[in-house]
Amino acid sequence: MKCSDFNQLIQSFTEDTLEEEYYDSFVRHARECSECMDELEIHYMIRVGLERMEDESTKSFDLKEELKNQLLKYERLADMRFKRKVYHTVTIVIAEICIIINVIQMLYL
Ligand SMILES: [Zn+2]
Repeated sequence: MKCSDFNQLIQSFTEDTLEEEYYDSFVRHARECSECMDELEIHYMIRVGLERMEDESTKSFDLKEELKNQLLKYERLADMRFKRKVYHTVTIVIAEICIIINVIQMLYL
């Protein structure tokens, strides 16, 4: 992912509406590119911080920690998505093998 792509996705990330296909590349870019991570931090703090002020919540909050948690959440989601894809592929391959075995049996029996 390029920095410009990352920057376009920051808003949906802070709104928690990032699309599934970007989970992995977004989190990876945030970890690899300190400039974009800074940018993300600023956006996150402004957006979530303002929301909290509107709520007049007196609870203390650690936005840096929350941002870290949200990145972790998306990392896990990306991981689950990857595993789902792998399972899906494996299932199809097994089904194909079964069909092939069936065909071979039909030919030779
Ligand atoms: Zn970047």
